[in-house]
Amino acid sequence: MDFTGKTAVVTGGSRGIGRAVCLELAKGGANVVLCYAGNEAAAAETVSACEALGAKALAVKCDVADGEQVKALMDEAVKAFGRIDILVNNAGITRDGLLMMMKEADFDAVISANLRGTFLCMKAVARTMMKQRYGRIVNLSSVVGLRGNAGQVNYAASKAGVIGMTKSLAKELASRGVTVNAVAPGFIDTDMTAAMPEAAKTATLASIPMQRLGAPEDIAKAVAFLASDGAAYITGQVIAVDGGMAM
Ligand code: NAP
Repeated sequence: MDFTGKTAVVTGGSRGIGRAVCLELAKGGANVVLCYAGNEAAAAETVSACEALGAKALAVKCDVADGEQVKALMDEAVKAFGRIDILVNNAGITRDGLLMMMKEADFDAVISANLRGTFLCMKAVARTMMKQRYGRIVNLSSVVGLRGNAGQVNYAASKAGVIGMTKSLAKELASRGVTVNAVAPGFIDTDMTAAMPEAAKTATLASIPMQRLGAPEDIAKAVAFLASDGAAYITGQVIAVDGGMAM
């Protein structure tokens, strides 16, 4: 896929799926601006990996749940590269627990990072993309947003909410050449899933028809396709990349 001359902002690009997305876009020649929450060393490593592929890259510390920081992130991207063509809303967290035990703070934190963060980033780039009459927004949802999962009411609400926002904004921006789609990963081998208890991992694995975890690169390929010119006539869709889990 050719992203020459395009600028992509990838939230949560320091690790896991976000890092793989940065590399996939860099491989296609995109300028990559990635943000991270606090892991500066990992973000710097992603920048170096993008540069090793011949792309220009920049890391910005930004809490996506904070409107001022999100605005500063997008301003930095425009200052560095003149435009924003692609936004990948990937930053996300979990704070799992059964509803009866879930603290209000754990609900709020997950909604803030995953749902509010996606809202703020889309809002911050929408005007630029409309003016350009070109834009690709790809949001990371989850199989959990499609099916629900015991112990994740906060996370499921945030990821189902991302799907609702994706479809709504797709309708708002379709006539301006801006597409908005979502990818719903299944069980992917990253730090997020490494933190799961062994019993939960075994049970989840048993529910995957392909009988294996996905790799971050599996998700990155789907994200890159939706961000490419080849996906120009696709908007408001949710692509599950999950080894068949959500069928
Ligand atoms: P991960 O390995 O835990 O990485 C999370 C990334 O998000 C890191 O770069 C982190 O930055 C960043 N981040 C977290 N909170 C942030 C905030 N408030 N502002 C800015 N950046 C923030 O996660 P992952 O597994 O790659 O997941 C990536 C996305 O895919 C998430 O939206 C997740 O919900 C979704 N997803 C993952 C799976 C899976 O199986 N892994 C399945 C379905 C959906 P730092 O490095 O600085 O902490």
